[in-house]
Amino acid sequence: MAVYLSAALRQELLDADDHRCAYCGTPQANSGSPMVVDHIMPRSQGGATRFDNLCFACYRCNLYKGPRMEAIDPLSGAVTVLFHPRRDAWGDHFAWDDAGLTILGQTATGRATITALRMNNAVIVDARRNWVRLGWRAGNP
Ligand SMILES: [Zn+2]
Repeated sequence: MAVYLSAALRQELLDADDHRCAYCGTPQANSGSPMVVDHIMPRSQGGATRFDNLCFACYRCNLYKGPRMEAIDPLSGAVTVLFHPRRDAWGDHFAWDDAGLTILGQTATGRATITALRMNNAVIVDARRNWVRLGWRAGNP
């Protein structure tokens, strides 16, 4: 669904997220499509269209996150809150493997978010392999 953002708010988000998906770190320039605006708390649950509830996300992360804020931690099986890009530090919950291809969950929240948003799907891992070959190195969102 299209979201109206003021130019100032859009710029604030672009600066904060460095033109990357706030979840999987995919740069917009490598994603093949514009980032979408994600309501971290969905509008259907009362989430506001304000900076502290918005981030940029790639189309797939936004699609698979859907209208939820929790998912199952695959290690414990427990329902766990998803990563919150405005409250949580990416590096506290995720890390890159040595090859820079796969995101590793460091916490229950990290593992649940990777699984729910399919952040290591085969297509994105193939794309990361090409970026690494070209000298691009994964950075933290
Ligand atoms: Zn993403």
